[in-house]
Amino acid sequence: MERVDLTIIGGGPVGLFASFYAGMRGMSVRIIDSLPELGGQLLALYPEKYVYDMPGFPKVLAKDLAAGLAEQGTQFAPQVVLDETAMGLEEEGEGYTVIGASGERYPTRTLIVSAGAGAFSPTRLGLPNEADFEGKGLYYSVRSKAEFAGKKLAIVGGGDSAFDWALNLHPVAREIVIVHRRDQFRAHEETIRAVKQLGVELKLWKTVVELHGNGNLLGTTLEDTQSKERERFDCDAVIVNIGFKSSLGPIKEWGLTMEKNQIVVDPLYRTNRPGVFAVGDVCTHDGKLKLIATGVGEAVTAVCVAKTLIDPAAKLFPGHSSEML
Ligand SMILES: Cc1cc2nc3c(=O)[nH]c(=O)nc-3n(C[C@H](O)[C@H](O)[C@H](O)COP(=O)(O)OP(=O)(O)OC[C@H]3O[C@@H](n4cnc5c(N)ncnc54)[C@H](O)[C@@H]3O)c2cc1C
Repeated sequence: MERVDLTIIGGGPVGLFASFYAGMRGMSVRIIDSLPELGGQLLALYPEKYVYDMPGFPKVLAKDLAAGLAEQGTQFAPQVVLDETAMGLEEEGEGYTVIGASGERYPTRTLIVSAGAGAFSPTRLGLPNEADFEGKGLYYSVRSKAEFAGKKLAIVGGGDSAFDWALNLHPVAREIVIVHRRDQFRAHEETIRAVKQLGVELKLWKTVVELHGNGNLLGTTLEDTQSKERERFDCDAVIVNIGFKSSLGPIKEWGLTMEKNQIVVDPLYRTNRPGVFAVGDVCTHDGKLKLIATGVGEAVTAVCVAKTLIDPAAKLFPGHSSEML
């Protein structure tokens, strides 16, 4: 891996804006995120909610805001490493090396930690043999629709992700059944209506209590959450969409000064380690507000300070974008 000027840990709204701004300042950038998609909390936690406090947008759907930020944040072609959790940080040469959960090493001159509440990972079903079937019929996200072509699918969950994937996979799958533990859904009403109109079967008041197979998943046992009656349900794949958990875990071991699970920064968003900045929800300082509008401002300052570290001749204030692009 080549050494970049700036590595950004976390491709949420704040990290994405940091990436855009660093690109505009001519820096080489790498974004690392543990999720399979850029967007952070906007996509993982509330894609169908409206956000009302973005400058210039009286209201905007979180997933649309995420898409705009991802487009802007990748405008200068940063290296984007998804499905990778930053585990370790070593001082090395003219900066640091970030060590990923995959074992890959990512050399960098400076670092911005915009890790929010920590690395997101999907909530699992909690069954003893679950790990045996991961990637072999049991999935927590959809990378490629083609993988599910012609298959009978059970989609577990009652939120936006479950219903969105039912809609998206309907044209390719042989059959789709939604399995949900209640009869109420958190998904957007319009999506629920569209899924019902397609004739997707809803198995309500049911949870998956067993997974069956011989190497690959062949089926499940579903239990009625009220009567506790069990039924065997055979299918080719189970896609679990029951939320995400987040954990700052490894970042807490990086020798950064922490206060209540947040990284302490000075007014220039510098941490106690030289060349390492923290912005967005993960950082704390006097007057800290956990908002996107303030987080992206923090990102701009951190990027400009990082720029002057790498190139001492560079000005802190870059000028106006309207005169730069
Ligand atoms: C329901 C809800 C509604 C909200 N509504 C609003 C609103 O209306 N307006 C507003 O301004 N704010 C709102 N917020 C808050 C807003 O979403 C956050 O302030 C914002 O997402 C913070 O952005 P961030 O980039 O700092 O972190 P995040 O969005 O949390 O992104 C952090 C990213 O870092 C990744 N990551 C973390 N650790 C690692 C690691 N070790 N390795 C690799 N990747 C890692 C995570 O996977 C994640 O993608 C809302 C929040 C919630 C939950």
